[in-house]
Amino acid sequence: MVRPLFSLTLIMVALLASGCAEPAGEAADLILHNGTIWTVDEAAPTAQAVAIQDGHFIAVGSDDEVLALAGPGTEVIDLDGHFATPGFIDTHVHFASAARFLEFNIMRTGTQEEFVARVEEVISGLPEGEWIRGGFWGAYDQWAAGSVGSEGQEPFVPDMEHIDTLTSTYPMLIRKFDNSAFAANTAALEAAGIDPLDPQAPGVTFEQRKEDGRATGIMTGAEGVRDLFSDVVPQGFTHERRIAQTKNALEEIRRRGVTSVSDMSDEEQLEIYRELRQTGEMTVRVDFRYPLDDWHQLAAQGIERGGGDAWIRLGSLKGHIDGIMGTSSARFFQPYDHDPDNQGRWRRLMVDENGDFVEGQFLDYLLNADSAGLQITVHAIGDEANHLLMNYLEALNQQNGERDRRFRLVHAQVIAPDDFERLAPLGIIAEVQPYHLSDDMRWMEERIGHERCKGAYAFKRIQDSGAMLAFGSDWPGTSAAEYPINPMLGLYAAVTRQTMSGQPEAGWFPDERISIEDAIKAYTYNAAYASFEEAIKGSIAVGKLADLAVLSQNLREIDPSAILDTEVLYTIVDGRVVYRKE
Ligand SMILES: [Zn+2]
Repeated sequence: MVRPLFSLTLIMVALLASGCAEPAGEAADLILHNGTIWTVDEAAPTAQAVAIQDGHFIAVGSDDEVLALAGPGTEVIDLDGHFATPGFIDTHVHFASAARFLEFNIMRTGTQEEFVARVEEVISGLPEGEWIRGGFWGAYDQWAAGSVGSEGQEPFVPDMEHIDTLTSTYPMLIRKFDNSAFAANTAALEAAGIDPLDPQAPGVTFEQRKEDGRATGIMTGAEGVRDLFSDVVPQGFTHERRIAQTKNALEEIRRRGVTSVSDMSDEEQLEIYRELRQTGEMTVRVDFRYPLDDWHQLAAQGIERGGGDAWIRLGSLKGHIDGIMGTSSARFFQPYDHDPDNQGRWRRLMVDENGDFVEGQFLDYLLNADSAGLQITVHAIGDEANHLLMNYLEALNQQNGERDRRFRLVHAQVIAPDDFERLAPLGIIAEVQPYHLSDDMRWMEERIGHERCKGAYAFKRIQDSGAMLAFGSDWPGTSAAEYPINPMLGLYAAVTRQTMSGQPEAGWFPDERISIEDAIKAYTYNAAYASFEEAIKGSIAVGKLADLAVLSQNLREIDPSAILDTEVLYTIVDGRVVYRKE
């Protein structure tokens, strides 16, 4: 509670200081008026206009009240009646992977023309000699096959002959989404010492042209391919390339009305944020989470929960307890319906070198991190994983005493019937990604059955239990499914519980739908609360950071099916217009 008071004090000092010298100095830097503003502030839920000065809201209210603060230097934007909300806060992104993914992927590519266009695009921004990696082709075929009415699509395989000349100075090794095939251009084959006219390597099957036996570039044999290229393909990317990837990803974030993210990336990414902040190029606030077993690294620097500052927040950790639904490795009390010998698995910090569960081992990490004053967030998907984690939290209360931990149950995907009532007393924040449900609902019941699905992505029950929901995207997703950062997808999923194509008509377990107002709150205020920042952001109120999004449609009035068509018109971060739709 100290921090917010401190920042408010600063504003008041600033106002007083400027007020003494020159009354006109109180004029706003920026005024947005004639809008339909949904503030997510219960004291004053709607407004027409806001005034911003030094990165903070200094007035929120009617056009008349707010326009009175305009001075000669004030930029005034007429919102033309459009709908505005606090800037979206995405509580779950993997920024570095997303930045890499955005640079080059052919996940949704269905034709050779699109493939060539993507390759042209990526090399236009790359110094010669840089490797092109990633790819994940075929994921779209898989994706489409699971959606209604998209059967019979020809599987796409990149034809390397189309891009070989184009990429003669850019070695390229890309893969199919499921690692069942790889594609290398001639530059990559030659870098690995392979003669394209007589391709041979242990454990690798090369596809060859019928007419002359020349390698087409398509290879199978994942281990063989890995061995062949492991010494050839550089580890990671150059710092310059990562900065370029980061800038590109920041652009995508601005375009989506997102003003804060909670990230889980490597420390080089954190370094890049700091560099871009120096140059004024950071356009999103970041809550940066370290891995749980690195708790001592933060402790050694004296960083505690809610540490850092409003641009780069530090002091929280992320651990994993079980696997994921996508690979049927999430941990359940009972086996999977489609795989009766499998009830999922525990992750690294739960087990010994042999993979055997070690009682108390994970709890020790939690106790240590918690004693160091750090915020803990843990990935839990299956019902047993969520249950066990709640047991650990009870143990934390007993051993370290109760405190305002804001423990984030990351994913909280399938919760056992008796565990819902345990969420609120433990102060749990369910950090969920509603878009997952629009994808997973296709096969959830097949895998865990109807009964267990009642507790799956059960947002309404979580909310009614008194626990808090905080939304995010899980951008960029897995190698088989893209989770875009666009908050409209998450809002749509939470409100409709339908696939992107509107199936099933009544929604999947429709009792678990929540209102658009609750969904917006989970993407703004609650998400700010999740990083101990609700006093400085997450709603549009005087004194708070001026982060907001202006949208093309009034989300509270349109039919939920139209949420997906909503575009961002303006994104404002720290009082600065960082995106304006052309
Ligand atoms: Zn994730």
